[in-house]
Amino acid sequence: MKPFQIFNTLSRTVEEFRPLNPPNVTLYSCGPTVYLPQHLGNMRAFLFVDVLKRALRLAGYRVRHAMNITDVGHMTSDEDAGEDKVERTARAEGKSPREVADYYTELFLHDIDLLRIERPDVLCRATDHIPDMIRLIQRILDNGYAYVRPSGVYFDVEKWRGPSRMGRLSRQSLDEQMAGQRLEHSPDKKSPHDFALWVLNQPHHLMQWDSPWGRGYPGWHIECSAMSMKYLGATIDIHTGGTDHIPVHHENEIAQSESATGRPFVRYFVHNAFLVEKPGVKISKSAGKFPLLSDLVSAGFHPLAFRLFCFGAKYRSELVFSDEAIAAAQKNFEYFAQFARTLGDSEARAAEDSPWAREYRERFVEALGNDLNTPQALAVALELAAEAYRRGDRHVWNTLTEFDSVLGLDLAGLREAARGAEFPPEVARLIEQRRAARSDRNYKLADELRRRLEELGYEVRDTRDSSSYVPKGV
Ligand SMILES: [Zn+2]
Repeated sequence: MKPFQIFNTLSRTVEEFRPLNPPNVTLYSCGPTVYLPQHLGNMRAFLFVDVLKRALRLAGYRVRHAMNITDVGHMTSDEDAGEDKVERTARAEGKSPREVADYYTELFLHDIDLLRIERPDVLCRATDHIPDMIRLIQRILDNGYAYVRPSGVYFDVEKWRGPSRMGRLSRQSLDEQMAGQRLEHSPDKKSPHDFALWVLNQPHHLMQWDSPWGRGYPGWHIECSAMSMKYLGATIDIHTGGTDHIPVHHENEIAQSESATGRPFVRYFVHNAFLVEKPGVKISKSAGKFPLLSDLVSAGFHPLAFRLFCFGAKYRSELVFSDEAIAAAQKNFEYFAQFARTLGDSEARAAEDSPWAREYRERFVEALGNDLNTPQALAVALELAAEAYRRGDRHVWNTLTEFDSVLGLDLAGLREAARGAEFPPEVARLIEQRRAARSDRNYKLADELRRRLEELGYEVRDTRDSSSYVPKGV
């Protein structure tokens, strides 16, 4: 079998993946800033990480995954300017920063659970790691790559100038980067490009801690360096994030980490492209409107339709959001779900699949190992189910559930739920008639059948593309 290959932003090429200590893999992801709900554009990034992690596992790796929760220091501009995002929401809502962070962290966890995104092994809050950040800043100071001013402790970017240093990831020289940035900065920084490791003398900031340099709070970037180092070691195998993190946040993370440890920070930087409204127009908070998972659910979509919608696109390509595309993904979800729900016991319990399924497994694994080509993997999974129907041979359950370890649709759970909800024959017949009536858009008949089912003691719940029938009182 071919080795797992992935696009490394550091080299700008698809590389063979070789972790430091195989089969173990350390993976760090920049997590949410918890001051607003995470919109679907953010969710695409978290789904990408989830699929990458599951695909690595299918390829035989053991992944340890850490992700941060940013609850302090992320300013409204990435260049340290403006207001702290969490504090801005706290002031607007009349809450404490901790209440804001707790609320939006819970909301985030709720949504990732609905999307069946596995929780990271370590989910770490910035405010729980202030001493780790202080120790790291001290190391950077001791090594001569930072300096203290009345307004804060700054990373000395000029000192970190060099071919394998600042700009290595973004492929921009320091001067190009400076030209590209808005130069709002503290007057006492040596260079406008220097970034804050620790901010001092901001009496209006609500969250403050004592440090060797005075009371203050951390800059945004230092938390990722401190927490990835603490939980995953000085050198991590894979670091993920959106492409927007390349020029500032990740450049700064590399500078902080490598100037402190003298060792390479990340072996593979892997970045996902955006979810867009139309080609080139990013869905983002700053654009003013940002659809949430709850909006999709209220519109009658299953959360896993969004999961499958993202799976159907390459992670490095822009993905255009539309109701039609989500509806198409929902059809695929229903196709798999129906396959699982109607599978016979003998097929589900067979220790081995029919030999013809083996080729599909190989193609699925190969597609994922080819720079995480999820659209191709999805096509293979759909073909497997279609071929099973065509042959009238559904001895493919082991293969399909193995695919589902990456697809993440919980097909085994859907099958179990369907078995638990077996209906008496008359009810099953009415349900089937009503399903046909709804797909023929014969809503009058569908309503009449709904009344009859309700008389028989069933509660009928419709979504856009499916219906559920639950005995009343259950
Ligand atoms: Zn980060």
